[in-house]
Amino acid sequence: MTGCSRCGGKPFYTRRYSGETLCASCFRESIVQKTRKTVSKYKMISAGERVAVAVSGGKDSLSLLRVLNELYRPRRNQIVAISVDEGVAGYRDEALDHARSLASELGVEQVVVSYKDLFGFSLDEALDWKEDRDVSSCSFCGVFRRRAIDEAAVRVRASVVATAHNLDDYVQTFMMNLMHGDIARLAWLDPTYADDSFPVRRVKPFMEIYEEEVALFAFQAGLPFQSISCPYMHEGLRTEVRDYLNMMEANHPGIKNVLLRSALDVISRYPRSTGRASVPCSNCGRPSSSALCSVCRMKAAVEEHVKLGA
Ligand code: SF4
Ligand code: ZN
Repeated sequence: MTGCSRCGGKPFYTRRYSGETLCASCFRESIVQKTRKTVSKYKMISAGERVAVAVSGGKDSLSLLRVLNELYRPRRNQIVAISVDEGVAGYRDEALDHARSLASELGVEQVVVSYKDLFGFSLDEALDWKEDRDVSSCSFCGVFRRRAIDEAAVRVRASVVATAHNLDDYVQTFMMNLMHGDIARLAWLDPTYADDSFPVRRVKPFMEIYEEEVALFAFQAGLPFQSISCPYMHEGLRTEVRDYLNMMEANHPGIKNVLLRSALDVISRYPRSTGRASVPCSNCGRPSSSALCSVCRMKAAVEEHVKLGA
């Protein structure tokens, strides 16, 4: 068997799409350097800018915190970890422990915000009225999570939030938007898109790295894997799209990379002006596409159904 394509060392991983074989150390370094390249190509982070890394405590976000900390360590306090506690008994605690211990091991400041403190209810309490809703748990939760991340980022005075979406997440979302006929949302996938409904920019430094490679990086770095999934997780179409893309990649190595390039090409031709016009939410003042923003709308619906503090 041939050795590492870069240093001749003991083979650890072969990138089927490029034919490159890497030893453990060159593989690790390749992930750090790929991330650096993506950040620089799309001008995701400016010099000295304070970056809030959204750390859920899963393998992807723990890896992102580790990599960005390594890239930006020379400037202390540039990286800060933000985590959201949705309030899901028996699930989020384990992930938050992983996030806490990595942040403390790296000496990175961490801020945790909870749905309970921000909105007055935990996800467990909010989802009690599940039967009455026509929206999936994750779509519902996602609306509050985006707001919670914004709040945390503002609290830590960050001007950019880095999320751990990888290449697989990116192309799955692209395809799902097409399948849902949600063409206006394609603009959100532009790596340089600044959505004015968020007070801070969103960047995805792992968007050019396969999920499998991020998982391998986490495994190699000894990062803990969360043992249980969120009980409300319902991915529906995403699971089918993921399985289909994995099957295509197995038969045609590199096809996900091609799909990413095609997605970026389509998105770059998409007129920015078709993004949603925004007006201030009449309740919270945040930019919104309608008189009441989706957070305030959903919050009011939850409050109607949940006897808060009862
Ligand atoms: Fe929220 Fe869905 Fe994540 Fe559970 S899996 S925390 S419901 S987004
Ligand atoms: Zn509002």
